[in-house]
Amino acid sequence: MDVDFTPEDIAFREEVRSFIEENYPKHLGSLDRGDMTKEDLLAWHKILHTKGWVAPSWPAEFGGTDWTVTQRYIFNEESARHGTIPPMPFGVQMLGPVIYTFGNQEQKDWVLPGILSGKDWWCQGYSEPGAGSDLAALKTKAVLEDDEYVVNGHKIWTTLAQHADWMFCLVRTTSGEKRQDGISFLLIDMKTPGITVRPIITIDGGHEVNEVFLEDVRVPARNLVGEQDKGWTIAKFLLGNERSGIAGVARSKKAIDRLREIARGELENGGPLLSTADFSRKIAELEVDLTALEYTELRTLAAESQGQGPGPESSILKIKGTEIQQRITELTMEAVGNYAAPWVPQLDVGDNYLAIGPEQSHGVSQTYFNTRKTSIYGGSNEIQRNIIAKMVLGL
Ligand SMILES: Cc1cc2nc3c(=O)[nH]c(=O)nc-3n(C[C@H](O)[C@H](O)[C@H](O)COP(=O)(O)OP(=O)(O)OC[C@H]3O[C@@H](n4cnc5c(N)ncnc54)[C@H](O)[C@@H]3O)c2cc1C
Repeated sequence: MDVDFTPEDIAFREEVRSFIEENYPKHLGSLDRGDMTKEDLLAWHKILHTKGWVAPSWPAEFGGTDWTVTQRYIFNEESARHGTIPPMPFGVQMLGPVIYTFGNQEQKDWVLPGILSGKDWWCQGYSEPGAGSDLAALKTKAVLEDDEYVVNGHKIWTTLAQHADWMFCLVRTTSGEKRQDGISFLLIDMKTPGITVRPIITIDGGHEVNEVFLEDVRVPARNLVGEQDKGWTIAKFLLGNERSGIAGVARSKKAIDRLREIARGELENGGPLLSTADFSRKIAELEVDLTALEYTELRTLAAESQGQGPGPESSILKIKGTEIQQRITELTMEAVGNYAAPWVPQLDVGDNYLAIGPEQSHGVSQTYFNTRKTSIYGGSNEIQRNIIAKMVLGL
């Protein structure tokens, strides 16, 4: 695999960089993620859509960019460098590929444009109390009555369902001997009577996840994707795409830069933290791991560009990517020490660190707590290890 940049790639990087600098809404940079409205979260998505850049990984015929693997890599790097809000993953990364791979023409015509433009916000209705890692244990039931499914059940951990217009949902349509055989993949309008969304407030104080209750929710039968009872194959395909995006290499690079910047600050007892052998070794270890992950991701992207879908490598990317993200937040907590405890917005001085003190505490503990989730969602890291043991090591 050749990873050298050609003159065309370098020109492309310049094009992406200036587009972001000129068009990224300035006000988004000063907002905390938790304070953003639906409009804020979609603002960049809509600008990217107008430019035709919102779904680089989709085939061009469905609205993708036809970029090379290197161009996609450059775009991700530049987006992370600038700290842009990525397009909402539930539509672009998860559902879109499902629809253009398994959906019928009618579904392609109405689902894909709404994802691309940002008109339709999707959420993921997979997990239930008692069906997370063991997803096939799901109990939400859909019964076909004439040309409608009547759905009853309870979904949980549904990310940003409070903003969602639609939910893609796994439901049980048949209770057979093999649990995976009776599952179907349904598209549900969140405005349908019988749906209640209840917030779950997480340890960092944020409202990111929800419970969704479905009581006699009537869903047109044409909203079934693929065949009834055969949704498990689609469910697994979607999880593969969900995991490969979780590695977050470019954003971890930016977070390490921020960590290094904080560690340049003077300690109270003198000298920058970065010059202590112990702390600089910890950062170096992180960077070595991140570089190894980056090359694994590039190999996966190269295979994908040759038509091979994400395989068990996506589990490797998920484990290493999330471990690195968590490690960065741990080291950032270590760097700011007891100043991480309080968060005083008035003391925030952005990136102009002089010495390690309360100024750098902005968001550090919230980010640390929030990042605990990464080894759980998208299939927990223990489950990813089981997949690797089975699919890669043949155990
Ligand atoms: C922030 C966040 C956002 C999420 N967003 C969504 C969403 O939008 N939509 C959605 O459908 N779901 C979402 N989830 C749910 C997520 O997919 C599940 O939490 C995850 O699959 C784990 O399931 P569980 O919580 O039921 O834990 P459990 O499955 O009960 O697992 C508990 C613990 O046991 C371990 N464990 C379980 N089985 C095994 C095994 N066989 N071998 C080894 N260890 C095992 C797990 O690794 C874990 O540590 C989200 C979760 C979080 C934390």
